[in-house]
Amino acid sequence: MKVKKIAIIGAGNMGSAIANGIIKSGYLEASAIHIADPRKHVLEEMSAKGMCAFQNNGEAVEQADLVIFAVKPYHIESVINDMKTALTPDKILVSIAAGVNLKQLATMAGDDKTIFRVMPNTAISIQESMTCIAGNGNSGDSLETVKELFDQLGETVVISEELMAAATVLASCGTAFALRYVRAAMQGGIEMGFGAEMAQFITAQTVKGAVQLIMNTGHHPEREIDKVTTPRGITITGINEMEHQGFSSAVIQGLIASFKKIEQV
Ligand code: NAD
Repeated sequence: MKVKKIAIIGAGNMGSAIANGIIKSGYLEASAIHIADPRKHVLEEMSAKGMCAFQNNGEAVEQADLVIFAVKPYHIESVINDMKTALTPDKILVSIAAGVNLKQLATMAGDDKTIFRVMPNTAISIQESMTCIAGNGNSGDSLETVKELFDQLGETVVISEELMAAATVLASCGTAFALRYVRAAMQGGIEMGFGAEMAQFITAQTVKGAVQLIMNTGHHPEREIDKVTTPRGITITGINEMEHQGFSSAVIQGLIASFKKIEQV
């Protein structure tokens, strides 16, 4: 069932990106988005785009059939507590807060609630998010509703909750990891003679094309790498040097360090 009205609690980076993306996709009218934040100037911006803006979270969720919590993880408990009576069991609750699990959310909102954890990334602002979704025991048909909504904002996969920490690292932190490769390649490009702007353009388009190659074909990355690595050639020399310097190991160890950190926050 398509959602009719959604409330977004928190109009920061992610909350406003979700709101803007939904409007841009044409999935819902701006007026069907009720957005709440304590910051007045942010609400004015949202109102100017045709959304219904609220400083009171309870009022924002009143008419909504789906509520997205887009506040910092350390705010979510007080936010839910302060508006508990407004969160009636007919509403689908969606939290994007990293590291707050479904059991904790059910303790905050009530065991009878339909709750999802959704993990998008910042490319949601351009409708290119990789969004991972996990629901609780009450989710039933609502899963389709939630998936359809986030499908407007990029790609989605439904996962079991035990993989949510891994999804957070791979997909959400992953944006920063990928961009560090881009930055490093740019630095090399500059040393070889390109200006920064040109180095960025060449690197970004190259990475985009490489990714598109495996997305369009479904090929394993190594199959595409094999096509470029001529025996005794230039590319294999560079790749092997990167590996001697610990490239793959650094990436894997970085992912695992982030994964371990999630347990501590
Ligand atoms: P942010 O700080 O940009 O936004 C949080 C917003 O919540 C702010 O606008 C703030 O004014 C508002 N807020 C604070 N107290 C509030 C209250 N009591 N009621 C209503 N609104 C309140 O943070 P963000 O980067 O948008 O992150 C939001 C959530 O998204 C976090 O829980 C984070 O874990 C999650 N998340 C972030 C990313 C990412 O890459 N940034 C990716 C996936 C999930």
